[in-house]
Amino acid sequence: MKHVIALDVGGTGMKAALVGAGGALLHQARRATGRERGPDAVVADILDFAADLRAHGIDHYGEPASAAGVAVPGIVDDTGGIAVFAANLGWRDVPLRALLAERLGGVPVALGHDVRAGGLAEGRVGAGQGADRYLFVPLGTGIAGAIGIDGRVEAGAHGFAGEIGHIVVRPGGVDCPCGQRGCLERYASASAVSEAWAAACGDPDADAADCAKAVESGDARALQVWQEAVDALADGLVTALTLLDPRTLIVGGGLAEAGETLFTPLREAVRQRVTFQKLPSLVPAALGDTAGCLGAGLLAWDLLASTDRS
Ligand SMILES: [Zn+2]
Repeated sequence: MKHVIALDVGGTGMKAALVGAGGALLHQARRATGRERGPDAVVADILDFAADLRAHGIDHYGEPASAAGVAVPGIVDDTGGIAVFAANLGWRDVPLRALLAERLGGVPVALGHDVRAGGLAEGRVGAGQGADRYLFVPLGTGIAGAIGIDGRVEAGAHGFAGEIGHIVVRPGGVDCPCGQRGCLERYASASAVSEAWAAACGDPDADAADCAKAVESGDARALQVWQEAVDALADGLVTALTLLDPRTLIVGGGLAEAGETLFTPLREAVRQRVTFQKLPSLVPAALGDTAGCLGAGLLAWDLLASTDRS
């Protein structure tokens, strides 16, 4: 059976799958990224993981994978197949596409950005199905975005498109590692809410999920922390929708797991801020943490389709 290898490399874990036509997940596996062993060891592990998946395909589906797709964090040159920079993995200019192609017997390999790959999957087989224009915003350790346009995700001229987490929503506010102050991700990422709630409740181990629970039980301090995050997020999202006019806004990541505790006040906060703009439908992501891996598989299938055509 024809299939492709999909790999999503994260800061702590790698998710992999063999993906059949139409995005069917045939086989899934996970391994630790092991970044503490250094950037070269991580690359070697990725190549080993991919080779093992290729062997699994031969054993179970009678043929090796026809292509592979890999999603990685940081700055990615999709066209050149280079992982340009990933702070959490210590990577600089890793020619990952060429290394994988060599290890996988010369099959076509697509290299993509993790959030854009996740956005591609949400748009095609997840919460954005059928939307010609959408924005996918995962709220995790940081905040990123994927701009979906007619079945593809916009990378920008330099691979930076969609970085909504670094839109300034509180001028002169909290320092951000990017060098700016008052960036959205310093107020509305899961990490930012965890920090704010830990400080407010006095328990250093309390996190965003605990904050959501306290909101649900009517805790006034939690409500305040939560509303500040919701307001910052609405400010950022309204900037984005003013610029992009998406039909669907897909919000995912750890913070979105709070469900309607997040979405009900967020829809209201966005509604209050728009004047002439058309309100997009604001929906939770559907694919959870498999989005990046599925997206990597879709990139591989897209690559096969384009090589078949040429
Ligand atoms: Zn920033």
